[in-house]
Amino acid sequence: MQAFIIFVPQNHLLLMLKNHPLRAYNTFGLAVKAKLFAEATDIASLKKLCQHDGPKYILGGGSNVLFKGDYPGLILRVANKGIQVIREDAEQVWVEVQAGEAWHQFVLWAVEHELGGVENLSLIPGTVGAAPMQNIGAYGVEIESVFDSLEAIEIATGQQVTFFKEQCKFGYRESIFKQALKNQFIIASVTFRLQKNPQLNISYGDISKTLEEMGVQQASLRQVSDAVIQIRRSKLPDPAELGNAGSFFKNPVISQDLFAQLQAEYPTIPNYPAVNGVKIPAGWLIEQDGWKGKQVGNTGCHARQALVLVNYGNATGQEILDFSTRVIESVHAHYGVRLDREVNVV
Ligand SMILES: Cc1cc2nc3c(=O)[nH]c(=O)nc-3n(C[C@H](O)[C@H](O)[C@H](O)COP(=O)(O)OP(=O)(O)OC[C@H]3O[C@@H](n4cnc5c(N)ncnc54)[C@H](O)[C@@H]3O)c2cc1C
Repeated sequence: MQAFIIFVPQNHLLLMLKNHPLRAYNTFGLAVKAKLFAEATDIASLKKLCQHDGPKYILGGGSNVLFKGDYPGLILRVANKGIQVIREDAEQVWVEVQAGEAWHQFVLWAVEHELGGVENLSLIPGTVGAAPMQNIGAYGVEIESVFDSLEAIEIATGQQVTFFKEQCKFGYRESIFKQALKNQFIIASVTFRLQKNPQLNISYGDISKTLEEMGVQQASLRQVSDAVIQIRRSKLPDPAELGNAGSFFKNPVISQDLFAQLQAEYPTIPNYPAVNGVKIPAGWLIEQDGWKGKQVGNTGCHARQALVLVNYGNATGQEILDFSTRVIESVHAHYGVRLDREVNVV
């Protein structure tokens, strides 16, 4: 591996590494390499790296990417840190968090400071900067509910731009940064609006059941966070032990007509109301179709969570991608529903 140095303002040294291994930088644990790799720990470095010619890919914690192979350009890892209260009133606190902070560290900070709004999002891997990309969500909460604004650097110009909530066009695992502005901005920091007297949201999934098992009657923020952590640990494979990127597919929204046909055949099909139809859990379709726990070569669907594709050790990204295509085609052939990938394929 070779390294060369770029100087940036404020006497910072910026290292650029050649042929850098990425196994430790993607939770699938794929043994791919980047032609060039650099880590930006401040905004000046981010702006400097924007000027680099050739293809660039912005990386946070690598927990929602699937590398098909080696990356032929610059992997720019966002690693600026810091959490700062910037404003407060009687009910709310505005907190600006730098993009390279680990999401879960920020959740722990909020819980520690008794500020509510993100406790149901405990233990989601990755960075704060990537969280708005797909409007991360879990246990009935999405970050759009606490989102105030973000600062982003336009890659083409190096200009800093503020985006408010309406401009981000948040949807289910979606934002403008995954659609119209894909690969055009680096998110540098995000400001959240947290509550001093939050209404806890414990009705979703197993949270209230878990709190009961913990012997909790009047739950605190920390207890809700602990319950979510406990549930997630029991349900999801730990990427440190078994490479994965969480849910590989999004839950599809289907038309009322198709839903009526499926329900006639499968009366117990789980379903949730959605804006343009009915939302069906992708995991149910995959499991019903016989893929849960199925291993093909070095990859497969996890035995406890059909929605999670895993790397059993030496899988390549292409192998995982091909397997996901088989699952998509099989579910489509049997149920008429086309699954979309949630994971970003690089
Ligand atoms: C075990 C496990 C459980 C998970 N559970 C959940 C869950 O419950 N809910 C959920 O929503 N997600 C979940 N995920 C997915 C993942 O944690 C989130 O999508 C997370 O936000 C990804 O963050 P990251 O920093 O790892 O992003 P990366 O994987 O590094 O990048 C993801 C995308 O964001 C872009 N990106 C990253 N940082 C920036 C930036 N600063 N500016 C611009 N673009 C950027 C990348 O180019 C890429 O397109 C899970 C993943 C795992 C492995």
